[in-house]
Amino acid sequence: MPELPEVETLRRALVPLVEGKTLKEIRFFRDNLRFPIPVKVLEKQVVDKKIEAVRRKGKYLLFQISSGTMILHLGMSGRVVQCASSEPEQKHTHVVFRIEKNTWFHFVDPRRFGCLVWQDIGEEHKLLRFQGPDPYSPEASATAMKQVAQNCKGPIKTFLMNGQKIAGIGNIYACESLFKAGIHPNRPAGRLSLKSWDRLLSEVRATLDRSIAAGGTTLKDFFDPSGSVGYYVLQLSVYGKEGKPCSVCGAIIDRIVHSNRSTFFCKQCQKR
Ligand SMILES: [Zn+2]
Repeated sequence: MPELPEVETLRRALVPLVEGKTLKEIRFFRDNLRFPIPVKVLEKQVVDKKIEAVRRKGKYLLFQISSGTMILHLGMSGRVVQCASSEPEQKHTHVVFRIEKNTWFHFVDPRRFGCLVWQDIGEEHKLLRFQGPDPYSPEASATAMKQVAQNCKGPIKTFLMNGQKIAGIGNIYACESLFKAGIHPNRPAGRLSLKSWDRLLSEVRATLDRSIAAGGTTLKDFFDPSGSVGYYVLQLSVYGKEGKPCSVCGAIIDRIVHSNRSTFFCKQCQKR
């Protein structure tokens, strides 16, 4: 599944190819993905319009146009492929975008959990409205997150993975960041000090940064030759290491379960 670093890498790869350029044509090969695609609205609002910026919130890609924003989510298996024409080259090509004369992007999504929707200017789409801040945004400061978590008795691990609290932190990133910050995954989120929040959020961003750096910066880097999404090789400290010695202290890495997801941690290193 594409995680935040893959989406950010895709965004960075798209910026030089689409920002400031005109979207000349969209071809739809179906009118629904996870949600209905507002075909008529997109044709009216997006075609022949300039894409002013490509932004991201969590795992949502936001194509900003003067009258609003086209929102794309890759879901479980979505990818964006640069192609030589508007003719689908791969199975499960659902939407084709043409930028200027001859740059084509195909949205391919075998499992169709992705989505393509429209948000009018001045409005916030319901998919974004209930999302917490992106971990890179100033709204995800230690002070703000401490405030959001103040009455939260549940474990910090569950809090980190709740997109309504903070957007786009997957299981691997939650486990690795808690390890680096030395925070026990069962610690009630509402009990973290400002200093702990500061350290944790720094480690979340550092872990995401390392993964983004490993992913390269072009669309070619983003996809392996078979066309599948390249999963980044992040140097893992605890994730998937149950029963193995901790690389820092040598204690055995434990696994516990939060909301049906495995949490890996070192009880020696994560005491805070
Ligand atoms: Zn350890």
